[in-house]
Amino acid sequence: MARIVVVGAGVVALGAAMLLAGDGHRVIVLERDADGPPADPVDAWEQWQRPGLNQFRMAHTFLPRFRAILDAELPAAASTLKDAGALRMNYVRDVLPAKMSGGWLDGDERYALLTGRRVLVEAVLAAAAESAPGVQIRRGTAVAGLVGGTPALAGVPHVTGVMTKAGEVITADLVVDMSGRRSALPHWLEDIGARRPDEELEDVGFVYYGRHFRSADGSLPPMIGPAQIHWGTISSITLPADNGTWGVVLVTASTDTALRPLREAGRWEAVMRGLPLVAHWVDGTPIDDGVAVMARLEDRYRGFVLDGKPVATGVVAVADSWACSNPANGRGASIGLLHALTLRDQLRAVDAADPAAFAAAFHAATAETVEPWYRATLASDRHRVGEIEAGIRGGRYDSRDPGYQLEKALDAAFGRDPECTRANFDIRFVLDTPAKVFARPGLRDKTLRLGGGWRDAPPFGPTREQLLALVSP
Ligand SMILES: Cc1cc2nc3c(=O)[nH]c(=O)nc-3n(C[C@H](O)[C@H](O)[C@H](O)COP(=O)(O)OP(=O)(O)OC[C@H]3O[C@@H](n4cnc5c(N)ncnc54)[C@H](O)[C@@H]3O)c2cc1C
Repeated sequence: MARIVVVGAGVVALGAAMLLAGDGHRVIVLERDADGPPADPVDAWEQWQRPGLNQFRMAHTFLPRFRAILDAELPAAASTLKDAGALRMNYVRDVLPAKMSGGWLDGDERYALLTGRRVLVEAVLAAAAESAPGVQIRRGTAVAGLVGGTPALAGVPHVTGVMTKAGEVITADLVVDMSGRRSALPHWLEDIGARRPDEELEDVGFVYYGRHFRSADGSLPPMIGPAQIHWGTISSITLPADNGTWGVVLVTASTDTALRPLREAGRWEAVMRGLPLVAHWVDGTPIDDGVAVMARLEDRYRGFVLDGKPVATGVVAVADSWACSNPANGRGASIGLLHALTLRDQLRAVDAADPAAFAAAFHAATAETVEPWYRATLASDRHRVGEIEAGIRGGRYDSRDPGYQLEKALDAAFGRDPECTRANFDIRFVLDTPAKVFARPGLRDKTLRLGGGWRDAPPFGPTREQLLALVSP
């Protein structure tokens, strides 16, 4: 069994550590933030500070793919989450009226997602990981770089551990970088003489303006629309959480400077109150100090095999450190945990003691299991940026991309046919890729027949002019 160093103790890294330790690997998790979770996860919102993690207090949803992996692989953690107040919400059972879903069908149990403030979910997973045999979490330990050893492949640096900021060397058979979307791994690799990974970074990203609320009686606002709604140049996200709390986010394009006043609570609320299906989500007591803003949310992919050779052996990037996309789709933790599972499975198939074989196998498995999800999300994000930019110019976006046509048609067919509704869920919830879903017999034609008129749907919500008036002080 391998000695594994995981860099970062975010929500997916904690799951990864437990998955790896469950197979008998010895896992050391190094986290630069010093503070750990309080004994009761419900206190985490008030008591746990995580300055190293910008999205710690941003609304999160944990989609059915994340929930399914947790249930299957880490059932004790899944059940503790429930005890701590995280909810299981099944879209067919709990949200859609039967006339839209077609009623409960065999297999619909797969549409259950987990709700909960990110802070609470991470506190539960942190406690579970801390007590898992084979996992050691060292908080307040920032990694500053990699340590190189004897190459396993000619001309390719081999990593034998990490160097902490305090100068300590921690050796490992495998270093798993899970230090998130702003990971410094490319620099660390260059520092040991490796080639810089291939990086694809989008020019335009998104900005998140989020708040959390609580009700007096533990109830949650009724969901009368999808969790994410695009209103021209802005999107709203409304997410039930835990213990009578919920999160609300407004998302803009990073280029939309006119909407920056959304960082002021009064302007933010004025816009929310102007959005018909979701205005009631601000009828609660805020549990934060104001609007939390996170900018520079660009899609980014890193390729660690160049010209058929890994840039280094003995190190892999998993989850956001490998690829991250627009968080508004809520897919990051699901894709990340699927990637962690892929890592666990590759370590079962190929011994980490053969670093070259392992690097090749992990790269191939990443391309097969998670890269299609990144590519599908990227395509969707690019079209969304196109829609927003056209809206800012006062025009209308269109694209000949068949993937875009199908995505819009499937949205329009949602609730009009049980198969189209479930196809929509399968894609949104990271259960089946668009390519697999549209390979189902007859689905493509049915989608275009039922939803192909999406361009004729009347626009709803405030116009661009009304939106600008709402954000003007
Ligand atoms: C605004 C926002 C909203 C999101 N909403 C959702 C959602 O609704 N649903 C969803 O599934 N996903 C969502 N995501 C994505 C999700 O947060 C990530 O996919 C997930 O956090 C990745 O987990 P991770 O463990 O890989 O890394 P992270 O959670 O990013 O954690 C990285 C950790 O590494 C630590 N670290 C960094 N550098 C070092 C270092 N040098 N040494 C030691 N430690 C280090 C950091 O302190 C941090 O704790 C959202 C992301 C953002 C930005």
